[in-house]
Amino acid sequence: MKTEAVLDDIRARIESGYPLLFLKTAEEDRWERELAELALESERGLVTWTITRGLQPPISGEDHEPPSASRLLTQIRDYPEEHLFLIKDFHPYLQDPLVLRQLRDLLPELIAQRKTLLLFGPVLQVPLELEKDSVRIELPIPDYDDLRDEFDQVLAVLRQAANPLQLSSDNEDRLIKAVMGLTAQEARKAWMRALRGRTELNDDVFTALISEKRTLASGSDLLEFYDLDENVADIGGLDQLKEWMSKRAEAYSPRAREQGIPLPKGMLLLGVQGCGKSLTARATARLLSFPLMRLDIAALLGAQRGESEKNMRSVLSLVESIAPAVLWLDEIEKGFAGVEGDGVGAADATMLRLVGTFLTWMAEIQKPIFVVATANSVENLPPEMLRRGRFDELFFVDLPNFEERKHILGIHLKKRGWKTEQFDLSDLARRTDGFSGAELEQIVVTALIEAFGNGQILSQEELERAWRSTVPLSVTMEDKIFALRNWAQDRCRRATSDSRVTAMLEAEQRIETTRIPVDDDDSAPLPPWAQLAASGQLKAGIVEYVRKDGDVLFPGLVEAMSPYMEVAGDQGLAVRSNPNTVLWAGMSQPLCELICELVSSKRLYIHPTDIERYKQIQKGVRLPILKEPTDEKVPRASWLAASLRTAPHPVHSARLSRIGRMKLGGS
Ligand code: ATP
Repeated sequence: MKTEAVLDDIRARIESGYPLLFLKTAEEDRWERELAELALESERGLVTWTITRGLQPPISGEDHEPPSASRLLTQIRDYPEEHLFLIKDFHPYLQDPLVLRQLRDLLPELIAQRKTLLLFGPVLQVPLELEKDSVRIELPIPDYDDLRDEFDQVLAVLRQAANPLQLSSDNEDRLIKAVMGLTAQEARKAWMRALRGRTELNDDVFTALISEKRTLASGSDLLEFYDLDENVADIGGLDQLKEWMSKRAEAYSPRAREQGIPLPKGMLLLGVQGCGKSLTARATARLLSFPLMRLDIAALLGAQRGESEKNMRSVLSLVESIAPAVLWLDEIEKGFAGVEGDGVGAADATMLRLVGTFLTWMAEIQKPIFVVATANSVENLPPEMLRRGRFDELFFVDLPNFEERKHILGIHLKKRGWKTEQFDLSDLARRTDGFSGAELEQIVVTALIEAFGNGQILSQEELERAWRSTVPLSVTMEDKIFALRNWAQDRCRRATSDSRVTAMLEAEQRIETTRIPVDDDDSAPLPPWAQLAASGQLKAGIVEYVRKDGDVLFPGLVEAMSPYMEVAGDQGLAVRSNPNTVLWAGMSQPLCELICELVSSKRLYIHPTDIERYKQIQKGVRLPILKEPTDEKVPRASWLAASLRTAPHPVHSARLSRIGRMKLGGS
């Protein structure tokens, strides 16, 4: 609730004759000022009381008796009418039966004399006996407008310096938002600490301010507060994602608010392990100048039965009180595992409700909270989370391409004080196809440690040695990565620019580094697939050729590859589980092997196709024709007309996912 709204509520209650209000706050100074103003506006006198100073101002004349709770209540009775009594830290005295009875006896007189007692302090304990006759109100921490006033006062002090800091209105706005969630006094102290003596503003100021909020999250075991050590420049590649993020950051500006731009909700980053999803979550918080809090989903779900939902609600309301903030849900596929499907047990039912609670909260929240959810797989992800409209965007973060690998290697060398010009990063990037960002960082770190251990400085050779000793995860996880990539193809936006462009860039780079002699005439440059094939990257060339056309028949592929390898021979392809189902024949052994490998690693897929397409090609296969794939064993060699694509067939994919090489004796 906003300060103004709470003051209106208090004013209305005073005017309608409420005798007793319990007001809870840890911000004594600010609220005392607010209540003094309220008293003035309501034309009531304001008297304060503490056990140390007694009533201020005192009733009249000299008062030599030490203050006490009982005496206070007598004095209030004798005080003139139409007064407000701001009584601080009174709760311990309400334990005393005498004081409690005295207060209850006083209540009718307070109403008659138009007096209200405001019992004021950080503890809100209302004795049962007073519950019916009193109202309890939690006084909120300062909202944006309150902090704006406080900030103006701080600015007035700072401007007295010889060379004062000049601030744009956008930066003032960011400085105010950076401390939201703190009390006015805490905010003032934080600003003074961060800004005093400064002549210009930099990122560290925001980071310092944000870290003051650490204490707010310290009361919860479920929220982990992160330091904002990394920024967007520390992320190698992921250009689309970075561009998108910087546009979202704009949406938090006051100008965007004026133009009715809605507050962003968040993003889901799905992708290959170690490719920068967590790094992006951290950099996002820094970009927005919001504190970053990681929600521990496992601990949330590990709570006792019935506690998880309560915990979820209280943690979300804590996050709201810290807003603006970035809320990070890491590895949600693990946290929310088991939600999918309808055979739900009690645990799954709890989980479903939790996911529902979270998504409703996310949809309804009116505060600047940006949710970053990260996931390495989709298998156990609650489908509701992936539905359009929940997050502003779903991004797929893939293994880095050539340019990205170069960039990432450069970032990690620079981070450790090395100049990138000293190394041939193109060569290293070319060798590290299939490495994740984390593995590239590991190469740099390993090489540095080795060089240091040998008493030498870091060299290209050391980096190469480290590369050789690292087996990238993508080798063992190839199938999983391809499946994920496929899943993401139509559902997610790519964090990196279009893969076709990437493939071209990579191809160009390979050509450049391998120096394949190409005719120097002015004819059109080779298409990317041909460049790949020409540079010896035959598998990549075939995949790119199929991707370019979308749907490729075997004769076309054979012809396309003929300048780059031996393509004709006495070998054929057949379905592994049904070896009499022949797909094509008359190819060389190396070409058949390449195609088999690409199909079994799910980079290419076999699709049954219309026989007519083959009839137009003069040289067909003279075998009985199989109309469609079957699980029944085919008794003698038969031909299934098929084509190659980069996406699986919706029905027959499983049947045609493994193919083998066979010898048919030509066709
Ligand atoms: P996981 O799912 O395993 O947590 P992740 O995708 O979240 O993986 P990060 O934890 O962000 O990956 O990556 C680990 C470390 O690898 C980062 O802290 C960073 O140092 C380095 N790294 C990964 N990707 C990149 C990148 N694109 N640019 C720069 N560094 C990167």
